[in-house]
Amino acid sequence: IVQINQLNKFYGNFHVLKEVDLTVTRGEVLVIVGASGSGKSTLIRCVNGLEEYQSGTLEVDGFLMPRAEEREFGEVKGLREIRRGVGMVFQQFNLFPHMTVLQNITLGPMRVRRKSRAEAEENAMRLLDRVGLRDQALKYPGALSGGQQQRVAIARSLAMEPHLMLFDEPTSALDPEMVGEVLDVMRELAREGMTMMIVTHEMGFAREVGDRVIYVDQGRITESGTPAEFFDNPKNERTRTFLSRVL
Ligand code: ATP
Ligand code: MG
Repeated sequence: IVQINQLNKFYGNFHVLKEVDLTVTRGEVLVIVGASGSGKSTLIRCVNGLEEYQSGTLEVDGFLMPRAEEREFGEVKGLREIRRGVGMVFQQFNLFPHMTVLQNITLGPMRVRRKSRAEAEENAMRLLDRVGLRDQALKYPGALSGGQQQRVAIARSLAMEPHLMLFDEPTSALDPEMVGEVLDVMRELAREGMTMMIVTHEMGFAREVGDRVIYVDQGRITESGTPAEFFDNPKNERTRTFLSRVL
């Protein structure tokens, strides 16, 4: 579902992603780890077109993501198709504060997918049920805990019926006691077969839920393996150093 070949990305002169090759198959849960500033966020932001790349190829759902130069000339063919199928959840929940939980979730389906209010609301309630928040539908985000807000953000993303979900440190802004409830929702999604790319520092979760773990070091993927290979027998020295610090 995601196919990346020899991708390079620059911020000005700064070479942030270097010859990245990566394939994510349908139903796979890929966990991305690495030091701060190594390019993890940049990598997943490229996958939904939030960041442009300069060379190589990036395909999502069979569509070729346009490169920076193509976007300059307004050739954004493919971008809309890709965005349609990709959901993203950030560290900050980014809910609309002036809308209720229910309105936050129904907005996209009604505006972008032209769903009727009734259909969008019915679907939203089903999703809220799934993330354990059915009784919070009419509250405003400000009245919810961080963990609840993040679960609403996941439900909002799912309402657009993505084929691929991207998570960028979804639990990093949460108080420790709320991390578990968000990871539980993600674990359940994985179990149902959702394809996911997850940047996280939760190594226990990575090991348990990930099908594959990659290590990003200064813009390169320097290690890739099953959780068992990655955690028990890392090949790369830098991965070992990293693991010794976080485990
Ligand atoms: P963290 O674990 O801290 O979230 P990360 O691995 O997600 O780090 P990125 O946010 O992808 O790292 O950033 C990679 C590098 O690119 C960093 O050196 C960062 O300073 C730089 N960078 C990120 N965004 C921009 C930008 N918009 N313009 C210029 N440089 C940027
Ligand atoms: Mg980041």
